[in-house]
Amino acid sequence: MKFALHQFKKFKKKLNYLSKEQIEKIQKTYEFANEVHIGQKRVSGEEFITHPLEVACILADMHMDIDSIIASLLHDVLEDTPTAKEIIINKFGKTIAELVDGVTKLSKMEFSTLVEAQAESFRKMIFAMSQDIRVILIKLADRLHNMRTINSLPKYKRKRIAKETLDIYAPIAIRLGIHNIYIELESLSFAAYYPLRSRSIEKATKKARGNRKEIMSAIEKDIKKTFAKSPIKTIEVIGREKHIYSIYKKMLRKHISFSEIMDLYGFRVILKNKDECYRALGIIHSLYKPFPGKFKDYIAIPKINGYQSLHTTLFGPQGVPIEIQIRTQEMEQMASIGIAAHWLYKTDEDIDVSHVRAQQWVNDLLEMQRKTGNSLEFIENVKTDLFTSEIYVFTPKGEIIELPHGSTAVDFAYSVHTDIGNSCASAKVNYKFAPLSTVLSSGQTVSITIAPNSKPNPAWLNFIKTGRARSAIKHFLKNQKQEELIALGKKLLDKSLSDYSITLDKISKKTINNLLMEANLKTENDLYEEIGLGKRTSILVAQQLIGSIKLKKLKPSPILIQGAENIAVKFASCCYPLPGDNVVGFLIPEQGLIIHTENCKNTSKLRKFPEKCIWVKWADDAKGIFTTLINVEMSSKKGSFGILATNVGNMDGDIDDIIINQRTGTDYVLTLRIFVRNKGHLNKIIKQIKSLPTVTKANRIK
Ligand code: MN
Repeated sequence: MKFALHQFKKFKKKLNYLSKEQIEKIQKTYEFANEVHIGQKRVSGEEFITHPLEVACILADMHMDIDSIIASLLHDVLEDTPTAKEIIINKFGKTIAELVDGVTKLSKMEFSTLVEAQAESFRKMIFAMSQDIRVILIKLADRLHNMRTINSLPKYKRKRIAKETLDIYAPIAIRLGIHNIYIELESLSFAAYYPLRSRSIEKATKKARGNRKEIMSAIEKDIKKTFAKSPIKTIEVIGREKHIYSIYKKMLRKHISFSEIMDLYGFRVILKNKDECYRALGIIHSLYKPFPGKFKDYIAIPKINGYQSLHTTLFGPQGVPIEIQIRTQEMEQMASIGIAAHWLYKTDEDIDVSHVRAQQWVNDLLEMQRKTGNSLEFIENVKTDLFTSEIYVFTPKGEIIELPHGSTAVDFAYSVHTDIGNSCASAKVNYKFAPLSTVLSSGQTVSITIAPNSKPNPAWLNFIKTGRARSAIKHFLKNQKQEELIALGKKLLDKSLSDYSITLDKISKKTINNLLMEANLKTENDLYEEIGLGKRTSILVAQQLIGSIKLKKLKPSPILIQGAENIAVKFASCCYPLPGDNVVGFLIPEQGLIIHTENCKNTSKLRKFPEKCIWVKWADDAKGIFTTLINVEMSSKKGSFGILATNVGNMDGDIDDIIINQRTGTDYVLTLRIFVRNKGHLNKIIKQIKSLPTVTKANRIK
């Protein structure tokens, strides 16, 4: 109790940025919290109230508003005491009750598996953040104090909490620009998760510090002296050191040794205003020579979390590399508390950038969650967004678009607008045509051409980087697949009905509704989709619909294949059917209608299920580009490949791949995968290949 009181005095001193009345209110809250938690102890044996008090201290250090401070004092009241939410509403008002409730919900979650738990917590967190972003700030402070006192927990719990902190809380902290909390969370989790590694790096850092001291102070002196001679007055020149976890990450990522990392000297120069920052850069560059290409202007283009500063790397005395950050006091404040600065400087629009962006980020996440629907997929998307550094590219109008590192033109299109992404046809990077899969880099100008018929391609999923593009493409394909399945199902049913020379519109609404009810389906489209999916056979459905109507079955007719493959109609990759081949279709559940050639070996098994067999035929005007395989045996003489490729090309055949199956001293046996229009086209190409003097054999592989 005594300890808590002493702690409270320390806390009260931190509140000097608030008014007297506000401090009084906080005092009353503290007394209330103390009363309801009385008798409770932490695992460490301390009075429980010390925990909410420390959490409030962390927020007071960031000068958070009074609501946040009060809610932080109460943050465990709902969970750990019998106090009801109504009491909090009556005593402290709705806003505070909601904040406490939000934090409680985040802490309460229990799940069967860890991965799922994380995914689900993440979703809830995003949701809570979207209601009031202060919830996450309180939760981060809560987690920070729990990490500071983690050593009183059993080992297995330490590991779990440390991992969760590294995976979720630290990335959120940095995403919101709260650098101070981020660094401490990472360092504490690293120490708890990898105690040995962390200790050895810490030891090495201490040792290295001794050696560095002289160089550090020499550089510091140089910098200060230079500024003293200039008209610009520095507010502060600070020597910086990397924190242990970031040294560890850098060693892992860049495969460099500890000493190479320690050979870097970091300084920060704090100045009065933006203008002075740019002038200071010139002064620094005249003191030491800059490394070409290492200058970054985060003042003109702030980082995604609102961080602003100038960065430059210099050749120091004896060529040692020096990294210098130049910024104003406000930027410095922003760099350490990020989004929390919103409550600190209510009026400054410049500083509020991070708050606006954080809101935008949370909104984007919500949108993504709405489209994904699956927790695990969602968390994957969020993680890619959280863990990648960003690049900056420009629209043709000069607007800046931020994207994660490794983003492509398609990601760019989606980040401009989902509709642009869904209909992008081609891209220009720096005014030159470039493939949609082009990986972008900072500073490029990117423009996207859209076409009304363009659709997202499933292959894009292999190269896109952003969660936003991924969830939008998947969402689109899911809908499209459904549309195509419905169309296929309808086509199959129409055809089965036409075998009885009747059409769907001749069947009464009542009969259809009865069937839907029996089948437990809502709409006709649901029925078509089930037929398209192969869950119901069109013949049976047709017979049910016809029911009592006496109709003579006519000679059946085939379904016509128009050519273009879509999600619901696919061509088997065992026999690669071409227009002109006799074909047979099989309706495979969850896959759609698969077309094989009539004599394909794989069809014998399928033919045992006549309800799956669909009579299909190529339409006379079937069009498209089809894959096919050719077996070629030829001499391995120099130049024979070139001759082969040129001849296929001359015949308008497009070689997709050449697989060498066998090579002897003089001969090759290879498989050619090419794109052709139809069987006739393929035969002409084979004839041409056979006519080559280097070729001994050529035939289609079925
Ligand atoms: Mn707590």
